[in-house]
Amino acid sequence: MKVTKMSHRTNCHKAKRKRHILAISGGKDSAALAVYMRKNHPELELEYVFTDSGCELPETYEYLDRIRAVLGIDITVIKPERDFDYWLKYYNGVLPSPQNRWCTRQLKLRPYEAYIGDDLTYSYIAIRADEDRGGYQNTKGNIIPRYPFVDGGMTLQDVVRILNESGLGLPDYYKWRSRSGCYFCFFQSNDEWRGLRKYHPDAFEKACWYEENHSDGRTYTWRGKRQDMHLHLRDIEGDPPDLNLDSFWEKEDDNRLVNVLGDIDFGGIDITNILR
Ligand code: SF4
Repeated sequence: MKVTKMSHRTNCHKAKRKRHILAISGGKDSAALAVYMRKNHPELELEYVFTDSGCELPETYEYLDRIRAVLGIDITVIKPERDFDYWLKYYNGVLPSPQNRWCTRQLKLRPYEAYIGDDLTYSYIAIRADEDRGGYQNTKGNIIPRYPFVDGGMTLQDVVRILNESGLGLPDYYKWRSRSGCYFCFFQSNDEWRGLRKYHPDAFEKACWYEENHSDGRTYTWRGKRQDMHLHLRDIEGDPPDLNLDSFWEKEDDNRLVNVLGDIDFGGIDITNILR
């Protein structure tokens, strides 16, 4: 496994070249795209990369290992030069939020752009034909998005079929969470926070710690406010719903799985969204 620690200067010395990059997010769509590209575009010299915020879920690393093993590919792990705690201090202890996604900028986007440098890069993005969203094009203009699933008319049903047939299946976090990303991601629903507490109690505690240890006495929470009241993680009660996706795979019931996945809100934080 290649691990690359990126600063914004890292790639400046490299000569410009043409590259083809598929950013794997740790979610189902980009995993299915990796399978699809191997099968349909073996002529491309694709680089597979994963941008690691340093705060990822164990299930994400496990899924990356599964992708490596099933596809026989190397995935370069891009790491930011400075970690979340450094940037939290830099931003005066203000936790990131949907309105202030400094986490995405510093831990995902900048390291990814530094990895690419000035190279002309075709970036293969796992947006599906049944989705209505665009991809990222950087201001420098050297990253050109490509949408193989859109071009091929591939939908959620196709993604499920690809993952089923390839034997990759879904990342294990899908039984309690609908997206990849940081364990403390503020895009989580209350049920997902409940899932974090159940499956990763230490990570849940750490997320609480961030809410409860602001050096200057101000209050920031991952879930923000409702009616001017801060919503603290510790106040979330109850257990997460039990979603056993394995049973769908075992029965090879793609249609039921599509229905279940279709009910989950997948908007958010894979690299394709990050780079918008
Ligand atoms: S996964 Fe969530 S917390 Fe992590 S960088 Fe992305 S938006 Fe920020």
